[in-house]
Amino acid sequence: MKQKKIKSILESNAIDKKCSVQGWVRTFRANRFLALNDGSTIENLQCVLDFEKLDDSFLKQINTGAAIKLSGILSESLGSGQKVELQVSNLKILGSSDPELYPIQPKRHSLEFLREKAHLRVRTATFSAVMRIRSALSFAVHQFFQQEGFFYINTPIITGNDAEGAGEMFRVSTLDLKNPPKDEIGNPDFKQDFFGKETNLTVSGQLEAEAYALGLGDVYTFGPTFRAENSNTSRHLAEFWMIEPEMAFYDLNDNMDLAEKFITSVLKNVLESCKKDLKFLDERFAKEESSKPVKERSSMGLIQKIEFVIKNDYRRVSYTEAIDILRNSKPNKKKKFKYPVNEWGIDLQSEHERFLVEKHFNCPVILYDYPANIKAFYMRRSDDGKTVRAMDILFPGIGEIVGGSQREERLDVLKERIKEMDINADELWWYLDLRKFGSVPHSGFGLGFERLVQFITGMGNIRDVIPFPRTPQNAAF
Ligand code: ATP
Ligand code: MN
Repeated sequence: MKQKKIKSILESNAIDKKCSVQGWVRTFRANRFLALNDGSTIENLQCVLDFEKLDDSFLKQINTGAAIKLSGILSESLGSGQKVELQVSNLKILGSSDPELYPIQPKRHSLEFLREKAHLRVRTATFSAVMRIRSALSFAVHQFFQQEGFFYINTPIITGNDAEGAGEMFRVSTLDLKNPPKDEIGNPDFKQDFFGKETNLTVSGQLEAEAYALGLGDVYTFGPTFRAENSNTSRHLAEFWMIEPEMAFYDLNDNMDLAEKFITSVLKNVLESCKKDLKFLDERFAKEESSKPVKERSSMGLIQKIEFVIKNDYRRVSYTEAIDILRNSKPNKKKKFKYPVNEWGIDLQSEHERFLVEKHFNCPVILYDYPANIKAFYMRRSDDGKTVRAMDILFPGIGEIVGGSQREERLDVLKERIKEMDINADELWWYLDLRKFGSVPHSGFGLGFERLVQFITGMGNIRDVIPFPRTPQNAAF
């Protein structure tokens, strides 16, 4: 008999058909009613064990977490809220599970507890829903770019650039840490290392993506990114996945338009393709919110929030306007910000971003034209001489979800910026070459995939939207 996934059984409504399924026991009641889940859907298949007699030792093996194979006849279900249930005629235990030891019991577990059981947490409704959505979202990302004529490229994970400028890096080395070869002045001699130079894990594929955009036109990367930043927040991972489109002939406005269109498209896609998982997470989100103090509660439900972001244009506000708003804001005047906003030029803190998005505008915001000295060297200098053509997209509850810019395409200006910022230009010889041979205006952005998954699933902590999170002091599994 052909094995079927529970998702297709529930969708097909095949009453009176013979059927065989395999999965894991979620619950087993009254020695008769079994809820089976195989990961294909949030829903369990209700199974009724109607054997004449089952011996006790066999029944004892049907525990939460056990893997079993069932076959029988699908019949119309009277009680369970589902159209069909399986009248079981044959049951085989594939892998037993000791109820005394199996940590995932049919009750509410805290997310913190489940993080310690990251190898088993996908067997809960919440995590399976999050991971199915993550998968659908990832497909939607490729679908969007492929439809738009972008090419998927893979940039190096091990990099010799130390000027990517997006954060602290993890060293990659095969030198003996205890006894490294030394150079003339007693430092480790990286000339003798695997690559003959210092190398690190990449913090961004942007610089290489630029090279490919200036040949293929429109490209995107979607790969792992590593940052050794010691920020133990609910929005930072040491290993995360980043989507980085890079487009030739795009200015900053084209860049913003694309980012909005992209986010709208993938949100719509997932809203359509993950209805059941989202409904479950929407209810979960409502429960979580209702346990928070009234002041901190989200004013919208999860699905409502997603629909709101799809329907509404993002507010585009220059850094300078934002500073004015913040300077004159209530929390600033009442000294409620930890970092007071006094002068033009400061870097915005997450409390400021949250005020703009969640209190002042109450919608996603694109901040653009930042002061040059708080942004990276490759961003295009504006005519005012003070700002660069950068943009950050800020989302409610998440903060920064996208960081992007128009890139400096003028060789002389770029060289000047590199010098000003004290960056080693020798390393960037190939990047400067791009400005010598057929340079054109171009733009791109980076979107943290997990932050988008957080937004769609309503999970408060980024550690709960990636299978095995990497954070400071934690590389278990
Ligand atoms: P933040 O200020 O939130 O640390 P950033 O300015 O360092 O972000 P960028 O260097 O612009 O971020 O990276 C592009 C995008 O990558 C960010 O908008 C965010 O969505 C995501 N991102 C950055 N750092 C992390 C991280 N440590 N974990 C997960 N996602 C991240
Ligand atoms: Mn950062």
